[in-house]
This record gives sequence, structure tokens and C-alpha cells, in this order.
Amino acid sequence: MYSRTQNENGSYNTRCLDCFMTIASCVETEKELDLRESHHLCPEKVLAQLLAQEKAAVAQAARN
Ligand SMILES: [Zn+2]
Repeated sequence: MYSRTQNENGSYNTRCLDCFMTIASCVETEKELDLRESHHLCPEKVLAQLLAQEKAAVAQAARN
């Protein structure tokens, strides 16, 4: 989930809607936007993943 905006000079900015971090600004092409977005390691998603892992570990510990 990314929010893309265009500047007056035609370049683009993109922002992650999960962590509200600006991933790229003044990017020339949409291809470059795709690239930057695909390289974004979202801290929000990492955190959610960690929590899910922890939950799974707790569930497993409770079973044993
Ligand atoms: Zn993010």
C-alpha cells in the first residue's frame, strides 16, 4: 500500500501507507517508483510479523 503523488515538475514521490515513511521523492519514472517500493522494508510489517511469530511460539509452548 503506497501513496504516490506527482510534483509540479513531473517527478514522483511515494509514501508507505503502513508506516507513513516517505520512500522516495523526486523520482523521475514510475519504474523507479516500483523499484523503490519493492525495496522498502516496512517496519510496521516486520513488527506485525514478529508479533505473529511470538504468538505462534506461545501457542506452541502452551501445547507442550
Ligand atoms: Zn512502510
